[in-house]
Amino acid sequence: TRHLADADPAVAAAVGDELTREQTQIELIASENIVSRAVLEAQGSVFTNKYAEGYPGRRYYQGCHPSDAVEQLAIDRAKQLFGCGFTNVQPHSGAQANGAVFLALLQPGDTILGMSLAAGGHLTHGAPPAQSGKWFNAIQYGVREDDHLVDFDEVERLALEHKPKLIIAGGSAYPRILDFARFRAIADKVGAYLMVDMAHFAGLVAAGEHPSPFGHAHVVTTTTHKTLRGPRGGMVMTDDEAIAKKINSAVFPGLQGGPLMHVIAAKAVAFGEALQPDFKTYAKAVVANARALAGRLKERGADLVAGGTDTHLALVDLRPLGITGKDADEALERAGITCNKNGIPFDPLPPMKTSGIRVGSPAGTTRGFGEAEFREVADMVADVLDGLKANGAEGNGAVEREVNGRVRALCARFPIYQG
Ligand code: PLP
Repeated sequence: TRHLADADPAVAAAVGDELTREQTQIELIASENIVSRAVLEAQGSVFTNKYAEGYPGRRYYQGCHPSDAVEQLAIDRAKQLFGCGFTNVQPHSGAQANGAVFLALLQPGDTILGMSLAAGGHLTHGAPPAQSGKWFNAIQYGVREDDHLVDFDEVERLALEHKPKLIIAGGSAYPRILDFARFRAIADKVGAYLMVDMAHFAGLVAAGEHPSPFGHAHVVTTTTHKTLRGPRGGMVMTDDEAIAKKINSAVFPGLQGGPLMHVIAAKAVAFGEALQPDFKTYAKAVVANARALAGRLKERGADLVAGGTDTHLALVDLRPLGITGKDADEALERAGITCNKNGIPFDPLPPMKTSGIRVGSPAGTTRGFGEAEFREVADMVADVLDGLKANGAEGNGAVEREVNGRVRALCARFPIYQG
């Protein structure tokens, strides 16, 4: 019956510190967001106690009526949100969702074709250190050197040469819209399945601010915690009944045991929120804000990979400023702005250094920043980067402290989790 603060002051202190950090720092990590109190409450609920292996109406445990109700809500809302015929809301994460598709559709050693990490793909798309790269014959496509866009001639050539069983479209640091129809045409040419991993831009798809992969992909995966603004988790969707059956068996009992019912409850809440009209307003603003942020960074001397953004994220090439991603993200954190260093296509520097940073607008947009605030944020970022340019890795402490004052003032104007 004791609350956390009494029962475990050390953990309570870390939670408190995280709350303060989120309230007082500007979050530019493109894969993060700020969930509603309702999502937090559902995720922190008694559903964490429940075992509910199986699916609604077909469980291996008793006492599952509330679990059935909440999982059915999540399923029905997700189907409505994306206009698809089937969804499995049980994957614990995006990586698990992708793993479930591989388990459903592939055998060990099969050939898959996905975007390389270096070009903006995800580990689970066949990168050498990942299970997807180790257990499959993973072929990787990249982007063109001149415009940083997917080279569909290369994708087609690799598909014809290697005859993959599965082609993966989607990525973690690709700022432009992908041509799903083109991917599907290539998949059809070689008899491959097309999987779209819309983890990053799912919230934009839900709101109609990004083309939908449905109608093109055989199967769609996503995380639920990025632009979609739900709890950390994953999901698999399809309109193909035969694939749907295989996906259910692959998630459970293939890959996972008991579903995280507290997370599924929070997914249901988030999907309910995304069905509301104001989610469209949010998603529109996410795209406009990312453009404003990226555009101002360019005016201040950085380059933008692929020339800019169509989505919620931009990949900033710091080479014109003569600084590394590692120095930049560390200096920005000192100033109270969080982002991540990120390799740029054909990056001459190793992954622990990099020539770029990835920035995104979802979290700032959720707390209420508009285009004017994002231009202000870009100026704060650029001021810190100029300090690095002038002084090397240690940056300019006085500028970083001054920027931190502006960060705190802006955060105070757009408070989160207050009262
Ligand atoms: N797919 C893409 C495109 C991602 O960007 C990510 C997360 O960064 C994932 C999958 C994996 O999601 P998770 O971190 O929930 O396993």
